[in-house]
Amino acid sequence: MAIALEASGLGKRYGSTWAVRDLCISIPAGRVVALVGPNGAGKTTFLQLAIGLLTPDTGDPQVFGWSPRDNPTLVLARVGFLAQERPLYMGFTVAETLRMGRELNPKWDLALAEARMRRLEIPLNRRVGKLSGGQQAQVALALALGKRPELLLLDEPVANLDPLARRQFLAELMESVAAEGLTVVLSSHLIADLERLADHLVILAGGRLQVAGDLEPLLEDHRWLVGPTEEIGRVGGTVVQAGTGERQCRMLVRGPAVPRGWTAAPVTLEDLVLAYLGNPDVSALAQPEAVPA
Ligand code: ATP
Repeated sequence: MAIALEASGLGKRYGSTWAVRDLCISIPAGRVVALVGPNGAGKTTFLQLAIGLLTPDTGDPQVFGWSPRDNPTLVLARVGFLAQERPLYMGFTVAETLRMGRELNPKWDLALAEARMRRLEIPLNRRVGKLSGGQQAQVALALALGKRPELLLLDEPVANLDPLARRQFLAELMESVAAEGLTVVLSSHLIADLERLADHLVILAGGRLQVAGDLEPLLEDHRWLVGPTEEIGRVGGTVVQAGTGERQCRMLVRGPAVPRGWTAAPVTLEDLVLAYLGNPDVSALAQPEAVPA
């Protein structure tokens, strides 16, 4: 299986604070990855390391097998990056912005980018500074996609957009994913959006990797268990979250078996993400312990 982005022991430090620490990760090509974590978890730092905007203190990420530090030209030709603050020249018109894309990228498809703007009814002769936030986001996406990247890194691209603009942005993104088969890493706090789009999950906590894997097996591997509090010792696997009452307890666990007499229910992506975010010391990377008989 082709790997789009991988790293081993990747770290970036600011003074005595590790923004990303000892990160080992392998993202298969063709996935749409939800990159999740609380504020300050290291998501932006990870994405900037991946594109070579930051130099790591330990490790060296590989993008389709190339190091952004040693082979920046090869990496930049393959990767599109949409930064959190969407850097656009507010004084440029949309047409000038797209032409700038052509000057900067050898594989640039101007006709495709302009057609995209027309379809979204974004006037080519309007200054970017006069567009709505949603329209600016679409221009930034067109810039990132116009270079026909194989890997697209998006850092909270829909934060601050209203629900309709958000939906249009994500629909546009998914159309390109379907048409081009590109790999996407999308950082966002909006789990409902990620639930619709993503097929791979990465959770960072305190700069470290907490969870990584394809979504379907991860969801199948976790469950809600409800049973008598006095029997809590019978629950095996990794307990991600536990709510214990006097008589009954409810736990989100990663593990293979359900103790007799307990009820089990499937988890959603939202359950999973919230449970791990609320318990940053629990990792889904370790193998679950054996379940007692
Ligand atoms: P958010 O969800 O708020 O965007 P994040 O997960 O993207 O957060 P980062 O922006 O990568 O997190 O920050 C990770 C850590 O590194 C934080 O503790 C942050 O304060 C620190 N950090 C990031 N950039 C710098 C910098 N330029 N100088 C010093 N510390 C920094």
